[in-house]
Amino acid sequence: MESQLPTADFLGFESLLTTHEREKLQDVRDFLAKEVSPHAVDWWNRAEFPHELLPKLAGLQLSTPVQQGYSHLFSGMVIAELTRADTSIATFFMVHHDLFVEALHTFGSEDQKARLLQDAMDLRITGAFALTEPLHGSDVAGGMATTATRDGDTWVVNGAKRWIGNGTFCDYMLLWARDTDTGGVRGFILDATLPGVSRTAIGNKTALRTVQNADIVLQDVRVAEADRFAGIESFDDTRQLLLGSRILVGWQAVGQQLAAFDVARQYAVERHQFGRPIAGFQLVQDQLVTMMGNTTASLAVMARVAQLQEQGVSDMPQAAFAKSYTTARMRETVALGRGILGGNGIVTDYGMAKIFADAEAVYTYEGSYEINSLIVGRALTGISAFA
Ligand SMILES: Cc1cc2nc3c(=O)[nH]c(=O)nc-3n(C[C@H](O)[C@H](O)[C@H](O)COP(=O)(O)OP(=O)(O)OC[C@H]3O[C@@H](n4cnc5c(N)ncnc54)[C@H](O)[C@@H]3O)c2cc1C
Repeated sequence: MESQLPTADFLGFESLLTTHEREKLQDVRDFLAKEVSPHAVDWWNRAEFPHELLPKLAGLQLSTPVQQGYSHLFSGMVIAELTRADTSIATFFMVHHDLFVEALHTFGSEDQKARLLQDAMDLRITGAFALTEPLHGSDVAGGMATTATRDGDTWVVNGAKRWIGNGTFCDYMLLWARDTDTGGVRGFILDATLPGVSRTAIGNKTALRTVQNADIVLQDVRVAEADRFAGIESFDDTRQLLLGSRILVGWQAVGQQLAAFDVARQYAVERHQFGRPIAGFQLVQDQLVTMMGNTTASLAVMARVAQLQEQGVSDMPQAAFAKSYTTARMRETVALGRGILGGNGIVTDYGMAKIFADAEAVYTYEGSYEINSLIVGRALTGISAFA
């Protein structure tokens, strides 16, 4: 019966896609139902990344959809759908495609593109995005301690990075370091196998366990000038890249809520207490309506942001609002869903515990809730409350 009931996209935002995009989104759904959803909890429990999935994921041909002519709305809905099936796989996909591959598209020289772009788009090589440091998270733009010093045709890089998704196994990472001459931030395509690069998996995580986050130490690593992104002179040059990925995290918050609603509604309809389905109790119905309402409000924000992106007028305060607003709604939605499953809501076998736990990473990365809220606050008041 549940399959005939509406999803949490109660106002039908999906209908704003073109017919072709809707068909493609259905292909994505079919793929995820077969290749990801049945295994996602097991991968998460074992904290293992499914490398065997990569050639199949590449078969979707969905690397940076906007570069291929799809709409921003479609691009966002793909991320929501991936997240709905598994937040970890969605995060792998975003780090690789929407940060590493997108950076190659945007900043890569003709030579760099010829060497790497097609293989990266087809997932024959994998990439990471190395910005955060052990001592600099929210303040990394101004506080970056990793340095790059020019020495002839190479740069000597020293420092450390933390939390780097795909960092344990990636072939390359987009590495950010401060130029000791100019003080500006530079971007490098770092071959992760170079001498002086060491990487250690961050263990014992309670969120996104399938994603392999790494601590990275860089000791006198020699990176060729040919592997520097020539177009990046300062942190400000990364603005469009980070804006796009921050918006996609808003879409992850949508996917997280779609998933929580799917699991909670099905459970509520099937679980009986006091001789009737718990979905028949008024309080539980009100909780499901709140979950749907949060999801729909988040979808509305994201769909409007996608329109602004089409018009080329989106800016960081809008992206920050999209991220902070939707992740706050998400936190309430997954908590309600967790409660609806009662004790089974804390066992990963029932799906909800993983959704609940993964939401915490979405709340924090790509700028924490607080930092994004402060970006909006600064835009509203003209006063920075950061420091
Ligand atoms: C699962 C996961 C994956 C990640 N993947 C990557 C990746 O692939 N690449 C990468 O570079 N980074 C990655 N990150 C790092 C992520 O972007 C940072 O965790 C995030 O920016 C916050 O930094 P922090 O953890 O150091 O927290 P801090 O910056 O130490 O913040 C701690 C708390 O203080 C608050 N705070 C800080 N400053 C202020 C202020 N001025 N006003 C009010 N509150 C403030 C924050 O909001 C937060 O609540 C990942 C993180 C996680 C958890």
